[in-house]
Amino acid sequence: MEAIRIDLCSDTITRPTPEMRKFISSAEVGDEQKKEDPTVNRLVEMVCELLDKEDALFLPSGTMCNQVAIRVHCSHGDEIVMDKTAHTRHYETGGPAALTGASTYTLEGERGIFSADQFEAAIRPDNNHFPRTRMVLIEQTSNMGGGSIWPLETIRGISQTAVKHGIARHMDGARLLNAVIATGIPAREYAAHFDSIWIDFSKGLGAPVGAAIAGSKEFIKEAWRWKHQFGGAMRQAGIIAAGAVYALEHHVERLSEDHENARILAKGLADIDGIRVEPVETNLLFFDVSGLGITGVEFNRMLMAEGVRVSPTPGTRVRAVTHLDVTRSQVEEALDVIRGVADDIRT
Ligand SMILES: *Cc1c(COP(=O)(O)O)cnc(C)c1O
Repeated sequence: MEAIRIDLCSDTITRPTPEMRKFISSAEVGDEQKKEDPTVNRLVEMVCELLDKEDALFLPSGTMCNQVAIRVHCSHGDEIVMDKTAHTRHYETGGPAALTGASTYTLEGERGIFSADQFEAAIRPDNNHFPRTRMVLIEQTSNMGGGSIWPLETIRGISQTAVKHGIARHMDGARLLNAVIATGIPAREYAAHFDSIWIDFSKGLGAPVGAAIAGSKEFIKEAWRWKHQFGGAMRQAGIIAAGAVYALEHHVERLSEDHENARILAKGLADIDGIRVEPVETNLLFFDVSGLGITGVEFNRMLMAEGVRVSPTPGTRVRAVTHLDVTRSQVEEALDVIRGVADDIRT
């Protein structure tokens, strides 16, 4: 089998650029747990500024951001409302149940996006029989929804409903900055509707490790406790925070190139018989190969034999992701490979 030349399986596979590595190698460091790491402190300030929040916390992963936030907002027996496709629901090994004792109530959104009315209908009445609806989670952009962008108006409606019912509002902003670049809406305008909100540095931003969550001083004070308990308090974490600082300074605007590449990929795929492409809004692109009469796993295996990798879901839906380590010409090359494989399958 050929080595993978063009890897469209995820935006997590990016490697730090030479410039980022250089920046990392000269990072000032200190003991993060004592809040004495200057690079982590600088990153925290940058995130507070970006999201217009009082305080922020650097964590090793986005998963830990979600789990720490859930632990702060919820208690045993509480319920969290989210879309049925949510990352927290499917890919965090049952974290809400295991770490907080909270259950999830999932809604049937459209491309991962539910309405304020759907949310309101999901809120439990104040009655001893029911779990307490304690938190609502919005994933911007929606990953399994198709890289779809939550409209600010929808967020505003859900936020108002949550406030009315005393429900905590949390944004899983793993790809919030993709939404920001695609819409031109500043991150702080989205963030204003949330009690806790985080961004991932190890996705499209291209840093090797890390995520940061922001909120009120009170929220972050509590979050620090769970960061420690979950084993996420670090020492000379400036070494990794530096990658995040560099990414925020140099890799945000360029996300538009990923979006453009995803559009080019989508346009090419749409012309291939047997492939059905979902709408593309950001850097995540989903397509269906049922028209070729094979599964996504089989399709990916055939592409890998030609040096291209995508990310199949069980069934026939396939995800392709554009990122920092895929150029325009590689996207065009990938299209040629995909076209060739599809032709071979049909003949
Ligand atoms: C990747 C991802 C996460 C988890 O982030 P990690 O840094 O990989 O732990 C959470 N939510 C969404 C939507 C994601 O795509």
